[in-house]
Amino acid sequence: MSTGDKAKIPEQPLNKKHLNNCIMGKYAVKISKLDVPELLKTLNAALAEEWLAYYQYWIGARLMEGPMRSEIEPELLKHANEELGHAVKLADRIIQLEGTPIINPKDWFSLAGCTYEAPSDPFVETILMQNLRGERCAIQRYEDIANFTEGKDYDTFEIALSILKEELEHEEDIESWMKDLNRMKEEFKKIKM
Ligand code: FE
Ligand code: FE
Ligand code: MG
Repeated sequence: MSTGDKAKIPEQPLNKKHLNNCIMGKYAVKISKLDVPELLKTLNAALAEEWLAYYQYWIGARLMEGPMRSEIEPELLKHANEELGHAVKLADRIIQLEGTPIINPKDWFSLAGCTYEAPSDPFVETILMQNLRGERCAIQRYEDIANFTEGKDYDTFEIALSILKEELEHEEDIESWMKDLNRMKEEFKKIKM
């Protein structure tokens, strides 16, 4: 295929992957006149954010100190793995769209729109607050991608929604631990009085 003709469906598809790329990916995107370079830029920013979120959870879970640690730690590690799963979906989609996923981790910080917060204070509440800010930034990211692709690129739209759903679960987990920790503090105050 010539470069100007990428979205054309070949008369005899070579294999299933080829067919998927032509029909589900580039073809669907081309007919909708979606701004693909802009989308690729955003998907790479999200990819950088996922790796940073992964590390923030992964290292934070290990350093964490304080109440409910044994309950929260394994769940934070689970979140870390889910962030990696998001990175897989993003990288695969970038490749399908003929973009290049970030190939050098040194670019993570410059591309990411969400802040990496180093867990320099290992107190559980501080770590949870850092992760909560990260989740809220991620939620905004996937809402933006969903809005950008809605009705134009169904594949990316669906990916954004599936990731968004997990980010909302992460946020909810953190909020419920914060609630429990606050409750614990209130009870403690009563005992002291
Ligand atoms: Fe994520
Ligand atoms: Fe998350
Ligand atoms: Mg969870």
